[in-house]
Amino acid sequence: MENINWSTLPFGYFKTDYNVRCYYRNGKWGLIETSSSEYINMHMAATCLHYGQEAFEGMKAYRGKDGKIRLFRWEENAKRMGRSADGILMAKVPQELFYEMVVKAVKLNEKYIPPYGHGAALYIRPLLIGTGPQIGVKPAEEYMFMVFVGPVGPYFKEGFNPVTLQIVRDFDRAAPQGTGHIKVGGNYAGSLFAANRAKEEGFPAVLFLEAKEKKYIDEAGPANFFAIKNNSYITPKSDSILPSITNMSLMQLAEDMGMNVERRKVAVEELDGFEEAGACGTAAIISPIGKLVDRETGKEYVFSKDGKAGTKSTKLYNKLQAIQYGDEPDTHNWVTILD
Ligand SMILES: *Cc1c(COP(=O)(O)O)cnc(C)c1O
Repeated sequence: MENINWSTLPFGYFKTDYNVRCYYRNGKWGLIETSSSEYINMHMAATCLHYGQEAFEGMKAYRGKDGKIRLFRWEENAKRMGRSADGILMAKVPQELFYEMVVKAVKLNEKYIPPYGHGAALYIRPLLIGTGPQIGVKPAEEYMFMVFVGPVGPYFKEGFNPVTLQIVRDFDRAAPQGTGHIKVGGNYAGSLFAANRAKEEGFPAVLFLEAKEKKYIDEAGPANFFAIKNNSYITPKSDSILPSITNMSLMQLAEDMGMNVERRKVAVEELDGFEEAGACGTAAIISPIGKLVDRETGKEYVFSKDGKAGTKSTKLYNKLQAIQYGDEPDTHNWVTILD
């Protein structure tokens, strides 16, 4: 076993032993290759470097009490990467290839999968890039798909404790009919300035509004937004947010728990009436939002007065984590056990 302090792992890059790669050339995908290098050798005119032909996924492998390794809803990640590829005209990774490479990357680095009980997991990063050269703005003719992994701890240092996020109005994450709905790097480049400024101003992340009217909530940088009110789970519906698999799962669990699920436009004024709020995604699962501060107006919306997460958010978080780690029955068939 590696000498890793599993309980204090940050959410960050961690070097492991192997990654796996596959190249798309002459109209077809080649054989899967295993590499120990952290570097990619590519053409200087590769489209991923110049014109942003790049898409990625983020998923986790969890080790259960029984020692078994579990993947959570990998098909959804494979499908979403397919939509991302279609959205920016990249070669699509067949679902079977996606799965085979994810499993291979996980198994080759098995000693880096955190043992049960530390709140840690193995983060999996599939990456699809245009590697063929172009100088005119055109899609590449060659692509590389790779998967690398690394053990991670909680995304926010606060863990499952409420964070304060900043509502920004002078930046948009994605254009109304742009690429916000697919997981491409360009969306993140556009979000860096606002996120970095927020950090300097004391906020771990921002909440973006829908760009056209600035009336409705879109999402937090790398996570979807949800709120709880009167036994309803409320989450924004917008063409410019990334459909989070965590959010999709929480909607189902909320329904299972007898809550109403409302996926609709969520106006900023509604924030005043919400009992709980949170940001959700693979990295943090749920980050309870204790307070939102509107950077422009200074208005504050408070969802947690005692510094603790709300009861419904806590219940949803525990339920989802229990399924992911294999502590509770996987009634929706979300989990793939690797053997
Ligand atoms: C990846 C991502 C999320 C979270 O999606 P999950 O599938 O739950 O991990 C949310 N918003 C954005 C912008 C993302 O890129």
